[in-house]
Amino acid sequence: ERFYVLMKTLIKKEGGGGHQIPMIDTARVFAAHGATSTILTTPSIALQFQKPIIRDQQSGLPITIHTLSTDITDTDMSAGPMIDTSVLLEPLRLFLLQNRPDCIVVDMFHRWAGDVIDELEIPRIVFTGNGCFPRCVVENIRKHVVLQNLSSDSEPFLVPDLPDRIELTSFYDLEPAYADYMRNVLGKRAWLVGPVSLCNRSVADKTERGKQPTMDEQNCLNWLNSKKPNSVLYVSFGSVAHLSQEQLKEIAYGLEASEQPFIWVVGKVLNGETCGEKNWLPDGFEQRMKETEKGLVFRGWAPQLLILEHGAVGGFVTHCGWNSTLEGVCAGVPMITWPLSAEQFSNEKLITDVLGIGVQVGSREWASWDAERKELVGREKVELAVKKVMVESEEAEEMRRRVKVIAGNARRAVEEGGTSYGDIDDLIQELKPRR
Ligand code: UDP
Repeated sequence: ERFYVLMKTLIKKEGGGGHQIPMIDTARVFAAHGATSTILTTPSIALQFQKPIIRDQQSGLPITIHTLSTDITDTDMSAGPMIDTSVLLEPLRLFLLQNRPDCIVVDMFHRWAGDVIDELEIPRIVFTGNGCFPRCVVENIRKHVVLQNLSSDSEPFLVPDLPDRIELTSFYDLEPAYADYMRNVLGKRAWLVGPVSLCNRSVADKTERGKQPTMDEQNCLNWLNSKKPNSVLYVSFGSVAHLSQEQLKEIAYGLEASEQPFIWVVGKVLNGETCGEKNWLPDGFEQRMKETEKGLVFRGWAPQLLILEHGAVGGFVTHCGWNSTLEGVCAGVPMITWPLSAEQFSNEKLITDVLGIGVQVGSREWASWDAERKELVGREKVELAVKKVMVESEEAEEMRRRVKVIAGNARRAVEEGGTSYGDIDDLIQELKPRR
């Protein structure tokens, strides 16, 4: 079976880990199940993730990368948030005509590719990159908004633009009620194939899956080796989030006041620029953290999987991106939720209210991309939430116990006989008779 994954190329080069990484991992998972997988992307993006793919090829997996165009250069990629995808249309059409796949998985942001794929009558699965819970929430909101315009409750209606086949990186046991609701009530064809990050088994894979870490990851792991089990807090806001200088200061003061050791990834969280040696931290903060060995401020791309699964890490301040959420779950680490936009607010509810494996920091404002306009989360709130997870208490113990159970379920889901393993095989079987 030929199985193609069309990567997200629309995003700026330095962002978008949240779609790119799980799509690559999905292709690798399908290759591991015997489906010939090809990742379609642009040359500059391919450079970022080719190492794990080369290793997969060397170990005999049927996986390749095909670059659609050489027209999009690094300069184009960094010029703005979107690139002109029309240049990819013809190369895509040509490639698909010559190599008809049994199925193509397309990122939800790649609407431009949909027409070509549908015209060639190739089965298309939309990759949403999130779980069932936010999906159910969004679907219901849409439904109700549409209903308001109807003349009677029984009038049938179509919700426009909804894909009827979706592929999700969740796994059944994480959110069974919502998976059932999505399949049985909302009538979606959904395959829950995650957590796909678990296909990264070797240290090299875990290090080189997104972009290359920009700080010697060994420094960071050595630092963790010197800490007690479950004592370190890992703080990261994903690959695209921006925070204001004032907010970063509040985080710094809050972390310091909590007195818990931490690794804080400040890759590019500062609005509009990367967090270099600029004067955005409180006076003497970094020096104090170094001297007391309390904290590590990590500039650049962190090896998140390796950090999270290190035994010294006992808590995760996360913006609730779906991948980070799943990675926290797989590592069995309770979370402090700090959603910033989009479905991250639903993911927060799943983590705290539904699963009981985290506490909310109190980030309220929804979907403002302008970091300067976001309501500040004060240092006291940061300190309080950190202590709730990191300082020994019955509540913290219970969260830790629960997330460890779910981590075990995640592992079982992707093993032979597990639900995600089964969903992948089912999908492959379903596509076979079309040949
Ligand atoms: N990530 C990483 N190192 C970093 C920042 C992010 O490895 O320094 C990875 C992280 O492990 C996750 C992805 O990038 O797989 C971020 O995806 P998520 O859905 O959590 O958030 P987004 O970046 O889409 O907001």
